[in-house]
Amino acid sequence: MNVLIVHAHPEPRSFNTALRDHSVKILDDHGHAVKVSDLYAMGFNPVAGPADFGDRADPDYLVYALEQRHGHEMGTLAPDIAAEIEKLMWCDLLILHFPLYWFSVPAILKGWIDRVLISGLTYGGRRFYDQGGLKGKRAMLTLTLGGREHMLDSDAAIHGRLNDMLKPLLQGTLAYTGMTVLPPFVAWHVPYVDDATRAGYLDAYGERLRTLDSLAPLTFPSLDTFDDAMRPK
Ligand code: FAD
Repeated sequence: MNVLIVHAHPEPRSFNTALRDHSVKILDDHGHAVKVSDLYAMGFNPVAGPADFGDRADPDYLVYALEQRHGHEMGTLAPDIAAEIEKLMWCDLLILHFPLYWFSVPAILKGWIDRVLISGLTYGGRRFYDQGGLKGKRAMLTLTLGGREHMLDSDAAIHGRLNDMLKPLLQGTLAYTGMTVLPPFVAWHVPYVDDATRAGYLDAYGERLRTLDSLAPLTFPSLDTFDDAMRPK
């Protein structure tokens, strides 16, 4: 299996990065090919804008998604985007690996999503959910956070359910582009637990990676159950 890890943590000695390094070793030991896009280390530009296109379908008015399509067709997307798309299309499993920031991803990772998951290739027209352009690939979120599990484990929890919080990523991004979405791997309360608990998270993540094939994916809508206007049949 080819695995792309898109990693977004600014500190190389962080626990989050240790978890990333541990996963690379485990995957490598099991014979998988792994590529890592370490966004901070790469100085990845997260700002979607006109400089993303070497040639414009419409030089006067920027419709970002239409220019993504044009740039992809013409081979004129910015080189940093093209390089990430090549890795994305190579992988069988995409792991977005990040510390939770404001119930979401760090801005540098949001920018990777905006710039790399381009219209025309990963989605577009009626190509989304189970018709999405990345159908056949699997995807998983791996995240560390400050909060405790009981703050996110039920509708009654103070922040509600984690998977509801992560809906823009799980459904609006990974499932929307057609990928089969595995349950997130979560390391809770990371800065406040002791070293032994963090060591347990490393072990648990190793076990998760060794048993990916036995995981039941999350479920999302199928276009077959909606009419042409996207109303439920
Ligand atoms: P670190 O602070 O890097 O590491 C914790 C400890 O682990 C350190 O003492 C480190 O030395 C130690 N460590 C490093 N390597 C190892 C190892 N191999 N084994 C054992 N220990 C090790 N949290 C939420 O819950 N919800 C939010 O909405 C949220 N929003 C945030 C927004 C911002 C802008 C920021 C900055 C933080 C936010 N947080 C939030 C908290 C954030 O998610 C956590 O602080 C982060 O995920 C902790 O992981 P880390 O890797 O950065 O921890």
